[in-house]
Amino acid sequence: MKISTILQQDKIHVSCEIFPPKQSGKLQQTEEVVKELAAVHPDFISVTYGAGGSTKANTVRLADIVQKHGIPALAHLTCVSSTQEMVRDTLAELRQNHIENVLALRGDLPQDGNVPVQQQYRYASELVCEIRSQGDFCIGAACYPEGHVESTSREEDIAHLKEKVECGCDFLTTQMFFDNNVFYSFLYRILAKDIRVPVVAGVMPVTNARQIARICALSGAALPPRFSNMADRFANDPASMRQAGIAYATEQIIDLISNGVRAIHLYTMNQPDVALKIFENISEIIK
Ligand code: FAD
Repeated sequence: MKISTILQQDKIHVSCEIFPPKQSGKLQQTEEVVKELAAVHPDFISVTYGAGGSTKANTVRLADIVQKHGIPALAHLTCVSSTQEMVRDTLAELRQNHIENVLALRGDLPQDGNVPVQQQYRYASELVCEIRSQGDFCIGAACYPEGHVESTSREEDIAHLKEKVECGCDFLTTQMFFDNNVFYSFLYRILAKDIRVPVVAGVMPVTNARQIARICALSGAALPPRFSNMADRFANDPASMRQAGIAYATEQIIDLISNGVRAIHLYTMNQPDVALKIFENISEIIK
């Protein structure tokens, strides 16, 4: 089913994200993750795309596995290291596997020179146009409540977001954020620019203090004092950090839903136990 159709349903939507293994031999292990997640019926499961297309085949295969477990799949697709032919081949594979939802991304610019940057697509908006020209896909794209790390201002980032949406996005998923006020203010700012597609709020339960530095570097997410205090207090106590991280994400989600947000995306990656705990914590709220 198309995610645009799912998001129109009168309910609270909760989705999850998983990543494919680099080696095909490990797909079976990841299928176990899908099975566990499918048991709590997320509205959809998104499958990431390795930097530079490193997991291309497994992204499609894993998205197919997700759908075979009865859950709509959202296949991520990046373009900065792809030619038009590569993109069109991947879209054809997705179509063959009846995967109709694609998250159109630029991808991070490679730092190490191992992955080539092709000249064909510079921005995700160009990929959105390409996907639109290749059939009846439901297209999602990324957005950044705190501004994308490369953009000089939030205003400039929102102007580019508007161009991307106008190329044909059906919905947006946010980068993770740890302060809901940042998200609420973003919603007002995009509405002021007449960006009206549904926005899925990305929440990451941080269950391991070692994740934090990497998260901040990649996403530029600001850490509110309440979050930093928690991380400092439990950094060396993994069991407590896990419990506190899940509680923090649960509170964030309850606040979002209380304020009228209707779609939440859990960045629980391949940790079904964390996703399941959060689903349990909010089971009455989303039923
Ligand atoms: P864009 O929308 O192209 O934006 C990138 C930058 O370019 C922004 O600063 C924007 O303001 C600027 N820009 C856009 N258009 C123009 C223009 N016309 N002129 C000048 N500047 C412009 N990465 C992966 O490798 N695999 C994944 O599976 C993956 N999944 C993700 C899922 C989500 C929900 C999110 C939020 C991110 C994901 N990423 C993933 C990371 C993403 O690839 C990076 O954040 C990347 O740096 C930007 O991708 P984008 O699609 O947002 O790019």
